Amino acid sequence: LAYMQQDIIITKRMDQIKHKIAVMSGKGGVGKSTMAVNIAASFAKKGYKTGILDVDIHGPNVPKMLKIGKTDLKVNEEGILPVKVGENLKVMSSQFLLSDENSPIIWRGPKKTAAIRQFLSDVSWGNLDILVIDCPPGTGDEHLAILQSIPSIDGIIMVTTPHTVSLDDVEKSINMARHLKIEVLGIVENMSGLICPECETEIPLFGRGGGSEISSKTGIPLLGSIPIDIRFEKEDDVLLVENSNSETSKNILKVVTKIEKQ
Ligand code: ADP
Repeated sequence: LAYMQQDIIITKRMDQIKHKIAVMSGKGGVGKSTMAVNIAASFAKKGYKTGILDVDIHGPNVPKMLKIGKTDLKVNEEGILPVKVGENLKVMSSQFLLSDENSPIIWRGPKKTAAIRQFLSDVSWGNLDILVIDCPPGTGDEHLAILQSIPSIDGIIMVTTPHTVSLDDVEKSINMARHLKIEVLGIVENMSGLICPECETEIPLFGRGGGSEISSKTGIPLLGSIPIDIRFEKEDDVLLVENSNSETSKNILKVVTKIEKQ
């Protein structure tokens, strides 16, 4: 009964959010969170009321990427209040529930599912145009909890590197989505090469063309390829949308515009 009640609350919360998109990857370290943050930030920049929910419970990096330090969450009668960044972006992360930024979260199996469902039911987003959900890497209980608990989710954006190991894993994630009858809106190939700052030659560090390979194999559109950006190291700044108007952000926005029109 408690489970059903929670479902009702989640549905009520999610009904206030026009579009919900999950960002997933076959494995960790491919830049999934970076992409999720950039997608969310570009929506916010465009004037959409945007939320980003960081449920990458083993590596919640979203606050760090958005330069949000130690945070004491506020609660009112509506629920837990997300942290506001700028005019249009609201952020909630499992990181906020940790007292020490460096301690790992040790949650297992059913506890993870319960924690994710609690996130979905307890956070008071209010009315949003779009919620971007940064999922953990891979396919597991957490993904089922997220994808099955959120009613009317628009779909998934899959992040991969061009490397074949990453691609095999991404195929597993795509199959999971298909099994759950959730649309994969597109694939983003990240770290698709390194531009030498000296001679501007592109070095294919993780191979070449993997994103388009998986796209033609699965029929899912490739939204864009993002090279390795050495500014990340220099400026400690992952907000690509602040620095450049990358083709990928534009392509992703095009996809979402299509969904909005539906
Ligand atoms: P994931 O969420 O898949 O585990 P992250 O988004 O945390 O991956 O990225 C892993 C690391 O790679 C981070 O340090 C991030 O800054 C870096 N990174 C991601 N994408 C790029 C890129 N295109 N160029 C350079 N560094 C990147």
